[in-house]
Amino acid sequence: MQNKNRIKRLVKNSCACYLGTKHGIPNYCCLQDGPCVFFAQEDAPLRCTYFENGVLPIDEKLEREYTSERNIESEFKTAQPRVNCQKCKATFSANSNRQKYCDKCRDKNANEKTKLRMRQMRKKQA
Ligand SMILES: [Zn+2]
Repeated sequence: MQNKNRIKRLVKNSCACYLGTKHGIPNYCCLQDGPCVFFAQEDAPLRCTYFENGVLPIDEKLEREYTSERNIESEFKTAQPRVNCQKCKATFSANSNRQKYCDKCRDKNANEKTKLRMRQMRKKQA
């Protein structure tokens, strides 16, 4: 989880529930009455509702990574442009404005390109 450290930094800097070391507990969270979930040792994508609603929106980029990492269907997703695939006309949410094909068609395109390349390679060898 490469964004874990950025989440921690955001918690430290901006979360109102994060109190540092308190009652002898490091990274104390007043909602948990214990350590903040994001400072746990485990690598599982952890969640905190307070953080998601009150802190995370400060950092839009991190918010997107956070929600996609946890497969959170939310209002953030609709912020992505809805695009019609140029091949099969299916509607999908594009990750960028340059994306013209849905994931299925993109995979198919990639396969066809690979096939084409293989064919040309074989031709050269013959
Ligand atoms: Zn398609």
